[in-house]
Amino acid sequence: MNRIVEMSNSLSNMISAGEVIENPVNVVKELVENSIDAGAKTIKISVIENGLSFVRIDDDGSGMTIKDARMSCKRHATSKIFSEKDLLSIKTLGFRGEALAAIASVSKVDIETKFKDNEGVRLSLEAGHIVKEQSIPRNVGTTIIVKSLFYNTPARFKFMSSEKRHQIQLRQLFYRFSLSRPDISFELIEDEKQFKKTSGSKNVRVVMNELFGQKYSERIDSTKIEIQNSVINIFYLPPLINVSNKSYIFTFINNRISNNFILTEAIIEAYENLMMIKRYPICICYIEVDPTRVDANIHPQKLKVKITNEQIIKYYITNKLKEKLTKRNQKLHTYKSESSENYTPQNLDLDSYFKKEELEEKEISQKLPNLDYLNLLSGTYGLFQGPHGLVLLDIHAAQERIRYEYYINKFKKDFNVITKRIVPFELSLDPNILSELDKYKETFKSYGFEFDNFGVISHPKAIREQDLDYAIDIIFDRINNGKSVDFSSLKNKLAKDVSCKSSITGNTRINRDEINVLYKRLSLCEYPYQCPHGRPTLVSLSYKEIEKMFKRII
Ligand code: ADP
Ligand code: MG
Repeated sequence: MNRIVEMSNSLSNMISAGEVIENPVNVVKELVENSIDAGAKTIKISVIENGLSFVRIDDDGSGMTIKDARMSCKRHATSKIFSEKDLLSIKTLGFRGEALAAIASVSKVDIETKFKDNEGVRLSLEAGHIVKEQSIPRNVGTTIIVKSLFYNTPARFKFMSSEKRHQIQLRQLFYRFSLSRPDISFELIEDEKQFKKTSGSKNVRVVMNELFGQKYSERIDSTKIEIQNSVINIFYLPPLINVSNKSYIFTFINNRISNNFILTEAIIEAYENLMMIKRYPICICYIEVDPTRVDANIHPQKLKVKITNEQIIKYYITNKLKEKLTKRNQKLHTYKSESSENYTPQNLDLDSYFKKEELEEKEISQKLPNLDYLNLLSGTYGLFQGPHGLVLLDIHAAQERIRYEYYINKFKKDFNVITKRIVPFELSLDPNILSELDKYKETFKSYGFEFDNFGVISHPKAIREQDLDYAIDIIFDRINNGKSVDFSSLKNKLAKDVSCKSSITGNTRINRDEINVLYKRLSLCEYPYQCPHGRPTLVSLSYKEIEKMFKRII
């Protein structure tokens, strides 16, 4: 054994850097947190190769004096806490004073900054040491440039896993920051192309629109809970709009990204029984509590945040949200199918399955009798009067059958016709799946799917845009589980799954016209009596049976 000696500063910085700075995404997180702490209203993040070769953060925050700038990259140098007492009630995102030192010790860093009417300054650092200092003209605020991350720790550099994973994590982080502070304008530039930008409008709905588009933002509802000096604001979408992973559940504690498992579960529980298995809600939850109740110091990268009384907060969130969501459904239950007042069309999207003219033409090949529609029972069953009695139609099962046959026919005809997209279709799959897609690029290509950094750029014409997520998820599942991918059984499974997953799940507002169209389309199916999984689409009660029940006949 060698003699014990104290480590040099730069060696100990490098070792601790491993804890704080695991990958380029951590670098961005730490730097953006610093910009937020400096009171910035505009933060621009630019990366090349997802940050591995270049990260640049521009902010219009307070900036630093030259003295502070020199201090900023020393280990344990912070302007944010001064005593142990401060550590118990942290109001800033940073507090350990080690991020800049850690980043600087494993990369080449330029700090450009200007404080009030001081002169602007640029410091260049290599392996944690200032190698150059010069005056520069610039606006108040700070720009930090990080080049050649891990250049002096080749072992770690080699360890950097697929860049794709970093891109997904980076975008996730960008979404989280943008939603955590709707009052700040965030912009993400990847390899000189703008990915997205928020306007700093202070409005959560506007941010949702800027990040994910109108399809989500226009359906947002919100609710507020006040308990034990805490305020919880929840922005949520109805269960009908759902995604295949948990990454659209955002929880923030005092505007800090929280990644808190218990809070995420609180939200998932509220939606329980309202959506299909393996589907997840879209929900943003802001919790404001006294800073003394928050512990942000439990994770090296400050990725996890705990609050005291977590279970009580969970209880309130689940209950309140559940109450709100089921109230919506009650409204649906009592909806009168006669009235088309305030009617918002549901996701029925029947038009794309058969054209109107086609329907009329096919009148002759109809497999079911003509029926008169009476009313909708419990938002799920259409009641019809027919020549032989009462008929109940399960609208979900019916829609599944229609879609299934549509897909089977379409796949037969033109699975090999490929649609090339000018604007890539952004997938909303589980980030873990997204990061793996690249690995199976060739297999996907053989099915007609191609991706670029922004999403799907080509796919079989037979699969409609709104079903792309499902289709890719299904194929991925098969390839990933080592199942053989034989064409005909895949088409069948795809048709079955896509038709089931994208159909309405009951409790639906559907008007007279729509339900008549639905029935008509069902009656044109080759096998209209069952959904592709074997559940009946129609159940009937003959006049004879009814008369027996009322003892009119024996
Ligand atoms: P911490 O954030 O924990 O204090 P850092 O190493 O991240 O530690 O930053 C050290 C200090 O450098 C901060 O306390 C702050 O005073 C200063 N600083 C870093 N980035 C910025 C910035 N973008 N604007 C103004 N000051 C900054
Ligand atoms: Mg910091």
